[in-house]
Amino acid sequence: LPEPVVEPTEAPAPTTNKKMVALTYDDGPNPIHTNAILDILEKYDARATFFDLGSLVEKYPDVVKREDALGCEVASHSWDHKNFNKISDSEILADIKKTEAVFQNILGQSPSGFRPPYGNCDDHVKTLIPMPIYLWSVDTLDWKSRNADAIMNEVTKIGDLDGKVILLHGIYSSTAEATARLVPYLQEAG
Ligand code: ZN
Repeated sequence: LPEPVVEPTEAPAPTTNKKMVALTYDDGPNPIHTNAILDILEKYDARATFFDLGSLVEKYPDVVKREDALGCEVASHSWDHKNFNKISDSEILADIKKTEAVFQNILGQSPSGFRPPYGNCDDHVKTLIPMPIYLWSVDTLDWKSRNADAIMNEVTKIGDLDGKVILLHGIYSSTAEATARLVPYLQEAG
């Protein structure tokens, strides 16, 4: 198995001199809110990474296909959001296998990477994950505030966002509302 790579604080090295920031959406796909987010990304010709749950990929295949068709990265967030530090090795391996199969079935490709539910992935668990592991560097707390102003504030207070990985959840209307402000804000910041 390839050696997992954990990049908790920085995005992959930019290939251009332009500033870069990664928008990442966990816990979907959701037929209403993910589509609202995709509408915004499409409008601004922007890309994001979706860390999707295998169980919801199976339930909402059209949403996942649209993520992929718009050039977004589709990655895994496990089958159904179990805490990998608390379940057995065989449960982890079965979860990864089941999620891989649904990605292959619906997208014809493997997840591009893995974000562990709750960010929980101890050193032993890391040895079981056959994909790059991605955490985040800016937590918008969108799941907690459910408020677009609060989400914007968590991002704008950082200042220089070059190289940051922003954590959002694609299952709230407030997060979609914040995305409609965040994308033009980031584009205007270069
Ligand atoms: Zn999650």
